[in-house]
Amino acid sequence: MTGEARIIDGKATAAALRAEIGREVAAIKAARGIVPGLHVVLVGEDPASKVYVASKEKLAVEVGMNSVAHRLPADTTQAQLLAKLAELNADDNVDGILVQLPLPKHIDTGRIIDAIDPAKDVDGLHPINAGLLAGGKNGLVPCTPLGSMLLLKQALPSLSGLDAVVIGRSELVGRPVAQLLLQADCTVTIAHSRTRDLAAVVKRADIVIAAVGRPRMVKGDWIKPGATVIDVGINRLPDGKLTGDVDFAEAVKVAGAITPVPGGVGPMTIACLLKNTLTAFHARRG
Ligand code: NDP
Repeated sequence: MTGEARIIDGKATAAALRAEIGREVAAIKAARGIVPGLHVVLVGEDPASKVYVASKEKLAVEVGMNSVAHRLPADTTQAQLLAKLAELNADDNVDGILVQLPLPKHIDTGRIIDAIDPAKDVDGLHPINAGLLAGGKNGLVPCTPLGSMLLLKQALPSLSGLDAVVIGRSELVGRPVAQLLLQADCTVTIAHSRTRDLAAVVKRADIVIAAVGRPRMVKGDWIKPGATVIDVGINRLPDGKLTGDVDFAEAVKVAGAITPVPGGVGPMTIACLLKNTLTAFHARRG
């Protein structure tokens, strides 16, 4: 096969998902006079985090949600941040709470995530939600894994019985996406930095999910011909361009379908944050 892979268009899929969410929010507003509320908390001045928070805020407004960003100074204490979360947990109009990571070093991230009401944890990182996912039950699922699965299901209507390899075992991406693949009846292998002969492991897979953070690490000749490749990686090259964990130019000649970077999983992440906010709204407020 040469130059055959179908490009999985995350940008268009995310736009369609946001439009659908927008219609649902409008229907809720018309029927009940209320809208779901998404609250994003940012501590400090990390430039990348500021950009992420601004785009989350903007897209939540676009779908008609009540979108609030709480921008706290870098010297905010852990106690002050916990107090802010307690306030948001107690407010019935707040449906989704997201604390933008990474937090400044003087704050214990685990302690902060634990303090978010699991019913409002739209990032899906609270241990209760992670535990539900591990048990095959439905809580709030982390946004990037959820977005990756939506793209995968678009490319492959039936996942049952397929061999899937996830490269990366982080709490944010690798582990939860592996759980979702298992729920979809894939045979799942989780690879990581200690995996022996990664190329051979990847070569067996009908589905490859790369979530490593190493530019173009997955080579074209690692890919089984016709496999579906979801590239979660976002890496900035010295020239400022973004690239994934997969060598796209090589892999596109071998794979059956592949996500580009940018324009693949990235746009799905925020769309899924909005989807989770709607899910949290329905679960809590009916
Ligand atoms: P982490 O750094 O938390 O995890 C990386 C994982 O990759 C680890 O499990 C690590 O293994 C594994 N790894 C590292 N080197 C190798 C190697 N040489 N061979 C095999 N496995 C290796 O990253 P994240 O999971 O948070 O993110 C992964 C990528 O996804 C990053 O590029 C990030 O920017 C991107 N990302 C994209 C998002 C999006 O919206 N599209 C959202 C979130 C992340 P070990 O556990 O053994 O150390």
